Amino acid sequence: MKTNSYAAQSATTPLAPFAIQRRDPGPHDVQIDILYCGVCHTDVHIARNEWQGTIYPCVPGHEIIGRVTKAGAHVTKFEEGDTVGVGCMVDSCRTCENCKADLEQFCEAGATFTYNAPDKHLGGMTYGGYSGSVVVDEAFVLQIPKALDPAAAAPLLCAGITTYSPLRHYNVAKGQKVGVVGLGGLGHMGMKLAKSFGAHVVAFTHSQGKVADALRLGADEVVYSKNDTEMKKHLNSFHFILDTVSAQHDINAYLVMLKREGTLTQVGVPAEPLAVQVGSLIFGRRNFSGSLIGGIKETQEMLDFCGRNNITADIEIVPIQRINEAYDRIVKNDVKYRFVIDMASLKAAS
Ligand code: NAP
Ligand code: ZN
Ligand code: ZN
Repeated sequence: MKTNSYAAQSATTPLAPFAIQRRDPGPHDVQIDILYCGVCHTDVHIARNEWQGTIYPCVPGHEIIGRVTKAGAHVTKFEEGDTVGVGCMVDSCRTCENCKADLEQFCEAGATFTYNAPDKHLGGMTYGGYSGSVVVDEAFVLQIPKALDPAAAAPLLCAGITTYSPLRHYNVAKGQKVGVVGLGGLGHMGMKLAKSFGAHVVAFTHSQGKVADALRLGADEVVYSKNDTEMKKHLNSFHFILDTVSAQHDINAYLVMLKREGTLTQVGVPAEPLAVQVGSLIFGRRNFSGSLIGGIKETQEMLDFCGRNNITADIEIVPIQRINEAYDRIVKNDVKYRFVIDMASLKAAS
């Protein structure tokens, strides 16, 4: 089946209309009409080949919300008409140690990511959610709680799980002081989630214009990170810090804010390596770690948690025709706090 999409044809060309093929749904597959797709900074990094390794044409998008239009004969979890989600992965080997531990993102054979990964069915590369429809094995499709606005729920599928997973892994809870660095798509979700787990949340932003917003979004304190005096007040005081920054920055300024044996988890992926001063780690036996999205089981757990607690992203809806402008605004830090594409605009254009 053919469907429309928006694709990058090279690192330097703007995204533009492109017809792609989707497979016919097999017995375990669900065919989904895409309603909304969130715009992650990863889409920008990959469309522009900032991490190397992009294969063109590239159709980004891994925060997909849609409606089931067909369910294969052996599909048990979904039926036609259901509102569903697809996040960063569409398959994995399902037999390795990590898949069996519900950590498909670390599949030893390599998870099949939603875009820019080898497509096992059609050959070539997988194409993401900036498109009219997608066909996915039901094992990688998520139920979206009815209580949530579908457009504002789209970012949960990447920004939500990427922040939920490390906060849970490091047992963030009431009575702890937790920092979130960078108030973008991931950061604003990290703040909301850490707050809902009961932590005392301190937001760090290098954008003065976001200070008031951070308080509105639930931060207990906000630090403007260019102010050294404000930064120094927090030395040796955090149990946990989540760093979501997408660009080069001084990681040591945050490592030294951890208490003894505290952990800083990096989820933002600057293109260039971060320089760690060993002294920031050895004094206080501090930990510096990383985290990648989350497994399918945990993603469903996060969605259900957000459904019960009415947690979604703060979004700005854009038509697909404005995707290149949205990318430029993301890079300029001019997004509050996630763009979501209304995919009806794709049909309107065709
Ligand atoms: P985003 O919306 O652009 O947010 C990034 C934030 O980083 C900005 O809002 C800004 O916050 C801060 N920042 C940007 N440039 C900075 C600079 N030069 N110095 C200091 N702070 C800066 O991006 P996102 O979608 O949240 O994604 C963030 C990063 O996470 C990206 O690198 C993305 O690829 C990565 N990511 C990782 C995973 C994973 O599984 N680990 C999953 C999804 C995304 P302030 O304006 O508040 O300072
Ligand atoms: Zn993402
Ligand atoms: Zn595996």
